[in-house]
Amino acid sequence: MNTIRKIAVLTSGGDSPGMNAAIRAVVRAAVYHGIECVGIYRGYQGMIEGDFKALDARSVKNIINKGGTFLKSARSDEFLTKEGRKKAYDHLVREQIDGLIIIGGDGSFRGAVQFSREFDVPVVGIPSTIDNDIIGTDFTIGYDTALNTVVEAIDKIRDTASSHNRLFLVEVMGRDAGNIALHAGIGAGAGDILIPEHHLSYEQLLESLAQSKKSGKSSNIIVVAEGDRTGKNIFELADFIKKNDSGYEVRVTVLGHIQRGGAPSCYDRVLASRLGVGAVEAMLEGVERVMVGVKYGKIVTIPFAELLKKEIQKDTELIRIADIISI
Ligand code: ADP
Repeated sequence: MNTIRKIAVLTSGGDSPGMNAAIRAVVRAAVYHGIECVGIYRGYQGMIEGDFKALDARSVKNIINKGGTFLKSARSDEFLTKEGRKKAYDHLVREQIDGLIIIGGDGSFRGAVQFSREFDVPVVGIPSTIDNDIIGTDFTIGYDTALNTVVEAIDKIRDTASSHNRLFLVEVMGRDAGNIALHAGIGAGAGDILIPEHHLSYEQLLESLAQSKKSGKSSNIIVVAEGDRTGKNIFELADFIKKNDSGYEVRVTVLGHIQRGGAPSCYDRVLASRLGVGAVEAMLEGVERVMVGVKYGKIVTIPFAELLKKEIQKDTELIRIADIISI
């Protein structure tokens, strides 16, 4: 088991609300356990360029409530190359870093797995993405906040939809996974929810709209995950519905990046705090090349090898519930 005296922490990939709370927890857990902690700015790119700064308990004050990440995040093409990863490793050696904590999503973990295969440095990952699409954990940091942001936005859109008897198509994030669309769609009372893992044909969509008209709905909201394949994109889908006269006046809203920002919810702050402390303690116990996650309410560690087996699971039970309650 390596002796850990100094660790580094970075945030990588798409930002998500609660990353700051996770950094704070990592730094304070390190201080609590008597080890040094260094922040690496701009994710893997900053590691390649040696953008390091020592952090102490006070360096992370007043950030638990802030969205984004004060360490900044980045995508790094150079880290995709062996030479880039070697440069990054050399900086860790130069700074005498004994362990690395990576806060990020799916892509960042692919990088972490590759890095820890090539170099002998303990790595622990903390899942932080609004998409909640990481195997081995029931929740990722930022997901709960994003759901609340989407529900709040759709509640506002509903006011206009019902005042004008309109059908709103609302696009939410989720290129490969429909978690945000499905959960926020149910939470916001959507009439239909279109997600990549459950393909609805044009005909089924028209049938569903006709059915909702018949049952007396004067306005309607369809939540569409950006990766849904029913139309080429949400605007094409809207055109198709207009052409086939669904009986509704159709409008499109793309929520976009508002879903990533904002103050993290209490749930995300607590999750980030638990996972941050969990990551440092796992490393100190010699458990490495793992991601910390939460399963059935308990903090667990998942070996990197398991993360690569990722398969998007379709939540058939939730799809069934959405169907039942939207009649
Ligand atoms: P996220 O973590 O939000 O899914 P990305 O998919 O953009 O974000 O990945 C973040 C970064 O992780 C990339 O810019 C790249 O530097 C690194 N990365 C992703 N996949 C790999 C890989 N297979 N090998 C090495 N690094 C990778």
